[in-house]
Amino acid sequence: FAPWADPNAKPFISFRNVTKRFGDFTAVDNLSLDIFTREFFALLGGSGCGKSTLLRMLAGFEQPTSGEITLDGQSLAGIPPYRRPVNMMFQSYALFPHMTVEKNIAFGLKQDGMPKTEIAERVAQMLKLVKLESFAGRKPHQLSGGQRQRVALARSLAKRPKVLLLDEPLGALDKKLREETQFELMDLQYELGLTFVVVTHDQEEAMTMSDRIAVMSQGRVIQVATPAEIYEAPNSRFVAEFIGDVNMMEGRVALENGHSVLKTEDGVSVPLPEPLAEGREVALAVRPEKLKVSRAAPPEGANLYAVRGEIWDIAYFGDMTVFHVKLPSGKIVKASSLNATRGVEDPFGYDEQIWVSFEPQAGVVLKG
Ligand code: ATP
Repeated sequence: FAPWADPNAKPFISFRNVTKRFGDFTAVDNLSLDIFTREFFALLGGSGCGKSTLLRMLAGFEQPTSGEITLDGQSLAGIPPYRRPVNMMFQSYALFPHMTVEKNIAFGLKQDGMPKTEIAERVAQMLKLVKLESFAGRKPHQLSGGQRQRVALARSLAKRPKVLLLDEPLGALDKKLREETQFELMDLQYELGLTFVVVTHDQEEAMTMSDRIAVMSQGRVIQVATPAEIYEAPNSRFVAEFIGDVNMMEGRVALENGHSVLKTEDGVSVPLPEPLAEGREVALAVRPEKLKVSRAAPPEGANLYAVRGEIWDIAYFGDMTVFHVKLPSGKIVKASSLNATRGVEDPFGYDEQIWVSFEPQAGVVLKG
């Protein structure tokens, strides 16, 4: 499933040069973005980056100051929220406290004037979908956080929208329940063949659930890609640092044997994939799992870039261990290794002198 990779595929939702200003504050800044049908799409970014505003404009609760949003090729300009084939599930769930689960789910259908028997049928269907058949008669305060979340989901799906917008859908759940619910959401989205656009500030959540992620900052999209691309090939320092842990090997471009190399603070020369101006500041972003810690120096000809270091800190996480290693420059890098695959080497000790090495293609070169 990768419609975005097909140049002939038509986007389902398109933001075209969309700007949203509140007074003289620009919340969304000339943003363009395509989302495809049946995609699970995440808008990810820190507080205030404009992700909720983007969602609210799609739902019709806010109007763009300029630019256009289209759905299935049709402009949404001037179309009120209730006439858009889009439904929104809010973080607070906004359930009616005095109504039973059943009534909460039926509410929107009743307002639309759907016949009673049809409503009953649809509500039963929804209760089954979110596995709450036996909770139909309860009120929200008699439910757990996860159950309330499912009622909210059922209610937003009852009208069978083509697109479901979810604003921090799992924000109110504890870690364990959140993880379980992530999978439920993914299954549900897949089964129903819907397009989901979810707003989150939780990168793990975005990585786990989505087909693609738009990483946002200050009203702009910095990168749109699959979770793996975002992690493996961030296009900027911002994305590299926002998603997961990263070591920034800072340095300058130097010329060695006619080829551009990155000369790091610790004197390691790493070949650059393209020629760059000498003296230019660049960084190599290397994820902790790409850094290898060893007692012995890497063998000659292993094509590894290696530097001496000292074990500074050790954090044991059960499945893996993260070593904080101090390099000669004083820089501290993180190297993680899975405990199951670390092999026979004794665990390293604090202050131990070790080697840190990485493969030439382990990092991503970031300019500027
Ligand atoms: P959070 O995760 O904190 O909800 P967000 O990325 O969803 O953040 P938005 O809610 O889209 O951020 O808000 C983006 C910016 O626009 C914020 O600085 C916010 O203060 C501002 N903003 C949003 N709505 C309004 C409004 N109605 N009037 C004035 N400023 C607003």
